[in-house]
Amino acid sequence: MSERNRIITIANQKGGVGKTTTAINLATALAAIGERVLIVDLDPQGNASTGLGISRKDRKLSSYDVLIGSSTISEAAIQTAVPNLFVVPSTMDLLGLEMEIAQNPDRAYRLRRALQNEDALSYNYILLDCPPSFNLLTVNAMTAAHSVLVPLQCEFFALEGLSQLLETVDEVRKTVNPRLDIQGIVLTMYDSRNNLAQQVVNDVREHLGEKVYHTLIPRNVRVSEAPSYGKPAILYDLKCSGSQAYLQLASEVIQRERQRKAAA
Ligand code: ADP
Ligand code: MG
Repeated sequence: MSERNRIITIANQKGGVGKTTTAINLATALAAIGERVLIVDLDPQGNASTGLGISRKDRKLSSYDVLIGSSTISEAAIQTAVPNLFVVPSTMDLLGLEMEIAQNPDRAYRLRRALQNEDALSYNYILLDCPPSFNLLTVNAMTAAHSVLVPLQCEFFALEGLSQLLETVDEVRKTVNPRLDIQGIVLTMYDSRNNLAQQVVNDVREHLGEKVYHTLIPRNVRVSEAPSYGKPAILYDLKCSGSQAYLQLASEVIQRERQRKAAA
């Protein structure tokens, strides 16, 4: 894996915790700061692609084509409305992938190989938006990545399931990707009016310490409206609290990257 870029898997086996929203808005914020950013949509649902305004008919090549090896990353990447932000969209074809390549000894390494290609090194950040399960797509993402970023929804059961996720990361480290790091944990859909939310934040910080970003992503209706306009929240309403939080998260991510590089 190259040190020239940073490949981050956005994973949590629970659905609806803010993976795709985080992928889109963190990527947009990083691009706005001047980084060249690529999102690879690995969820057959294609929410990241739709949320970035890529209609189904425009998905000529997709992450499926990349994973079966018939297309390179740059051939499949589409420029979005955000300067510096590109997406490799997904289609329902991904649903069949697991069966198609199940017998292949290199099945877990498909994405890694595609991202080792020289054209993938032109992106400073590559964010991998995973489906809500531990399947071959998530394994491909974790095998290809430098690190895992985990969105956790601020709810009572936030920590439930996290241990399973961390075990999976350990398993991937032991088998296919020894250097896989935890990029960080981001708390999403925080509602300050909910008494429980602050308790959840405290619990998560107590358990996971410095891995948890200081930035809290608030529950914000503008953030949930944006995808239906095919826009990142940051384009749809820059001033809303959700957009501002994602900009703050991006600067935290960049700051930690600087510290990590300085320590290396
Ligand atoms: P996942 O990718 O983990 O399944 P999504 O990012 O698609 O989760 O989010 C699930 C739902 O919650 C979506 O309808 C999304 O618009 C909404 N959502 C995500 N983050 C926020 C937020 N900060 N405020 C309000 N709604 C949000
Ligand atoms: Mg999603």
